[in-house]
Amino acid sequence: MIANRSSGLFQEELGHVERAPDRSYSLAALGRRARAAESARLEIVCWATNRGFKSHRLREMGTEFSREAGVLYEAAMNAALEEAKLAIAHNDVPVGAVAVVAGRVVASAHNERERRGDPTAHAEMLVLKSLAERAAGWRMSSVSLIVTLEPCVMCAGAIVAARIERVVFGAQDPKGGACGSVYNVCSDPRLNHEVDVVPGVMEDRCGEILTRFFSEKR
Ligand SMILES: [Zn+2]
Repeated sequence: MIANRSSGLFQEELGHVERAPDRSYSLAALGRRARAAESARLEIVCWATNRGFKSHRLREMGTEFSREAGVLYEAAMNAALEEAKLAIAHNDVPVGAVAVVAGRVVASAHNERERRGDPTAHAEMLVLKSLAERAAGWRMSSVSLIVTLEPCVMCAGAIVAARIERVVFGAQDPKGGACGSVYNVCSDPRLNHEVDVVPGVMEDRCGEILTRFFSEKR
């Protein structure tokens, strides 16, 4: 296990994270943002009832978010974007993910496929492993996973296996996305668990970091 901050907890305050300018969003994105805000409101209600999650330890970890409706996902996505930037230092595709339980970031990771030489070392997989090792066990039914890029088939499969409650992602992946783009693993009624999916949160910024990475590699 490589010891680095990707398996650690966020220490900084996330309640006052700078918001992306509204003018950068398309009309479709604005609609998605409205749906995300509504989901955030519902999520706050769920958190208030403290249902589900087996381990109380996770709720006590991490940094508490502002629970204002609509701000939550953007604050979490900003944290995921900060994680994504860390991947560039070891020449990995910049994708970042954070896990949120009861309004707190409890785990964060970025893509380390090149660094570890491990095809499974995607940000989402590392977050799930970090949670499992520390407190959550395999059933993570009160965890929301926020990731800068639409999860692939492998990660979406792991997300379903972990019974994750909700996936919030930024940029769509038309070549490999498994939360609606190419496949819809997270919301397939034939499987034994369906995950709420909130697409397109800060998708412009999440896409830009990838576009810049690949253009600089050429
Ligand atoms: Zn993946």
